[in-house]
Amino acid sequence: MATAAEVLGTHTREVPDFPTPGVVFKDLSPLFRDPEAFATVLADIGDRWRGKVDVVAGIEARGFIIGAPLAQAMGVGFVPIRKAGKLPGETHTRSYDLEYGEATIEVAADAFVPGCTVLLVDDVLATGGTAAAAAELIERAGARVTALEVLLELSFLHGRERLPGRELHAIQVD
Ligand code: AMP
Repeated sequence: MATAAEVLGTHTREVPDFPTPGVVFKDLSPLFRDPEAFATVLADIGDRWRGKVDVVAGIEARGFIIGAPLAQAMGVGFVPIRKAGKLPGETHTRSYDLEYGEATIEVAADAFVPGCTVLLVDDVLATGGTAAAAAELIERAGARVTALEVLLELSFLHGRERLPGRELHAIQVD
């Protein structure tokens, strides 16, 4: 049976110059379309963290596709980290720098039981700015980030350096 890393190798489409020239976009649609392959990846992550965290949090939007079924399989709740302006009610907010401009992410103020432990998931770690901001946001909301899990890490962008002292696991490293 193929490992999760092998499955990612065969189920990632590389799209050059998307969304901007010079970027090679890692499209995981082939993985999400294949239930057996997707299950292999979810089982790999679930086996690593089951019983070790209280909550799974996912970063909009592909972190939702991975995080929600993962949380179900692990028997814990799922919390969405959303782009600004999408969540009703009171929120915690954090802005961070992108290559051009700024982005803002939010989480519901009542999303976490104080002190609960969180696994933060996303599809791709690139510069690490989004993951670092999301981890800080979760902590501002009163929870503890036990670890971050991504399917693919683009190591040439040194995203890991934006996450000092944090436990980060990538299934496949480019
Ligand atoms: P980052 O630069 O680590 O803050 O990445 C920002 C977000 O964009 C992450 O949530 C990734 O899902 C996405 N992303 C960045 N670079 C790529 C890429 N080359 N392929 C696919 N998704 C990417």
